[in-house]
Amino acid sequence: MRTLVLNASNEPLSVVPARRALVLLLRERAVVVSESERTWRAESLSLNVPSVVRLRRYVTVPYRRTAPLSRRAIFLRDGHRCQYCGKHAENIDHVIPKTQGGQHQWDNVVASCRRCNTRKGGRTPAQAGLQLQRKPSVPGRFDWVLVAAGGRADRSWAPFLSMDARISMSEGTRSREEWTALSVAI
Ligand SMILES: [Zn+2]
Repeated sequence: MRTLVLNASNEPLSVVPARRALVLLLRERAVVVSESERTWRAESLSLNVPSVVRLRRYVTVPYRRTAPLSRRAIFLRDGHRCQYCGKHAENIDHVIPKTQGGQHQWDNVVASCRRCNTRKGGRTPAQAGLQLQRKPSVPGRFDWVLVAAGGRADRSWAPFLSMDARISMSEGTRSREEWTALSVAI
């Protein structure tokens, strides 16, 4: 179980194992924004695992985080489907081959099946008689969150991953004592 950590400004800051989010709650550095349906149990206590927490104090982020251009991230963006034929993808293809000046960047890489990748070789799609099913996109501002979560983002994260979401400023209702009792038990 992973927890989305928001900055005090409500912007996504990181994705951490839920137990690490618990440490933030224990140290009173964060409050619970959203709870999952899963629970942590400790004797008489049963608490919902937090799916989203927010830091109490704003943390300055020195650079704007973007989705890393990794094999995993490309497969995630393309749904593990070959962008030429739609079958299961195993390879990464440079649309304009590097040998023809293509760059290793988001709008020039796609997931591809082995067959299309081999057929294409060092050629452009047009040269190989292949057609891209859609133009490879550059990830949105918070798409790195989905990559960090391995594509398994909790539904409760959705409002925080869109720029213009209206976010309710609910505060956590659990006491520090409860979190402490729990952290001893799990
Ligand atoms: Zn294919």
